[in-house]
Amino acid sequence: MKVYLNGTLVEKEEAKVSIFDHGFLYGDGIFEGIRLYQGCIFKLEEHLKRLEDSAKAIMIKLPWTREEIQEAICETCRANELSDGYIRLIITRGMGDLGLNPKTCDSPQLFIIADKIELYPNSFYEEGLKIATVPTRRISCSALPPMIKSLNYLNNILAKIEAQQQGCLEALMLNEKGEVAECSGDNVFIVTDNTLMTPPVYAGSLNGITRKTVIDLARDAGIQVVETNLTRYDIWVADEFFLTGTAAEVIPVIELDGRSIGNGKPGTMTTQLRDLFLQQVTKNGFEL
Ligand code: PMP
Repeated sequence: MKVYLNGTLVEKEEAKVSIFDHGFLYGDGIFEGIRLYQGCIFKLEEHLKRLEDSAKAIMIKLPWTREEIQEAICETCRANELSDGYIRLIITRGMGDLGLNPKTCDSPQLFIIADKIELYPNSFYEEGLKIATVPTRRISCSALPPMIKSLNYLNNILAKIEAQQQGCLEALMLNEKGEVAECSGDNVFIVTDNTLMTPPVYAGSLNGITRKTVIDLARDAGIQVVETNLTRYDIWVADEFFLTGTAAEVIPVIELDGRSIGNGKPGTMTTQLRDLFLQQVTKNGFEL
């Protein structure tokens, strides 16, 4: 496997980063996770825009143009002869002193890994996930806005550990007010009385690209979509519950905190939206 390391493609084993890189020392950096479907990079423009927004928010001045990053991504996929897979793009603040001071970092570093994707087993899509609310709250917007896709994922990792302790693969995270924020790596949707509902991004979530795609597909299909604050009670009594994310796509959830959702099976609107999503993944792509 070849990895893109600041302008050159190197073998995976040679892809090494300085331990003085502030991405490593402090999680001072940003990233994107992007899918490649049949030689098309899904929603590449949207991912690059979010990357630029994350960079702006943490004040990393990108020395590459959007076109240069785009070309580096394509080059990495081509070098690995990939037509379907997962692309991880990482930008760190670069090498600096041991202290926090970002001014000691000379230049941002760009890494790209393009690999095959490990998906949830098919049975989870057919039967649905069982998940649990965890004690760790989603980090507050006033501390570190969750809209920034930063290299600081400890908040989400703690949530994942707590979900695993309860025998679940995903964690429902609430914000400090007890409202639903998101899962450790996915956005949240419910269906109640034929209305699709999702928490607003400011409740404390990443502005998911899959989330936006599903909202647009639902509206085009004539489904009413409402962005509104939700509590876990709203989910317990919902007709349907599903998660969205680049890796998971659209995945049904059939149980939260030991309460079965709806009739305990993936719902019809969930299945409809998952089918619509899968139908368009190669249509909204940037060809390699
Ligand atoms: N929330 C978090 C915390 C994430 O890390 C992700 C990405 N895995 C998502 C939501 C989903 O966002 P997207 O649809 O853009 O992948």
